[in-house]
Amino acid sequence: MMSCSSSTISSSYEFDSPDADVVLVSSDPVSPSQFHVHRCILAVASPFFRDMFSLPQGPSSSCSDKLPTIPVSESRDVLDPLLRFVYPIPDPILVSLDELDKVLAAAVKYEFDATIRALRGFLISPAFLHTSPVRVYSIACRYGLMDEAKIASRYTLGTDLLQLEGVAAEELKNMVAWDFHRLLMLHKGRSEAALAFIRTVEAEEGLCGGGVVKCVQCNGSMFTAQGSPKWWIEWEKRAEKELKIRPTTEVIFGLEFLYGAARSAGCIRCTGSVVESWKVLADLKEAIDSLPSTI
Ligand SMILES: [Zn+2]
Repeated sequence: MMSCSSSTISSSYEFDSPDADVVLVSSDPVSPSQFHVHRCILAVASPFFRDMFSLPQGPSSSCSDKLPTIPVSESRDVLDPLLRFVYPIPDPILVSLDELDKVLAAAVKYEFDATIRALRGFLISPAFLHTSPVRVYSIACRYGLMDEAKIASRYTLGTDLLQLEGVAAEELKNMVAWDFHRLLMLHKGRSEAALAFIRTVEAEEGLCGGGVVKCVQCNGSMFTAQGSPKWWIEWEKRAEKELKIRPTTEVIFGLEFLYGAARSAGCIRCTGSVVESWKVLADLKEAIDSLPSTI
């Protein structure tokens, strides 16, 4: 009968079993699809259907081979993967958050608890978290999935929340202000704490003023042993700007970022000082990485 969604990799089960005892009809306006399903499976999987089937049923059809039908408001592309999760057959693989969002909405609506659990796992799959963390966060919040929302919030740290584009910007229409505010507070708090760590290093004489972080050219000699090397001052300025946008260590401790600061510092020996300061930088990175990273 119906074909599977083109974006869904599914098993070959066709929902046309001869021993099915009820038919779900999709909402596709032109050619609704029929899914021949088993009440017992739906009733075990869903309190919604269990309650529905426990109600007195209408008079049976005069035609003995005609099964009762239930029109549903989901399209074929949603109903097909949903039922594949519910049935004891291989789960479909959802390849887009669009699809996952719609199937999750239907699973929540019909109270398919085991399917909701499976979809929660899909929602925080690495592919979705890395490419669309804000959208994953939004979907998780919308369905009250706080564990998943927390995980997704960590992955938003590399995103500029005030410059969202495309799908992520569109997703803001589906997010309540409170949930977005929580993300903003996470970013702001982490940014401020990270900058405090950096300034602590700078303030410690033994570390920066003439100790570990020093440049033999611009602050390492007995004549110029005051303050920080020029590269550190430049790096800190750039790091502050970057951390206010993306409060993670990924960019600011990258070689490109460090050497960019060193090259712009105006001191030919500062590049070497960056390398010699690796331990201070590693400790600082570890301290920032250990800051709270979720809502
Ligand atoms: Zn220098």
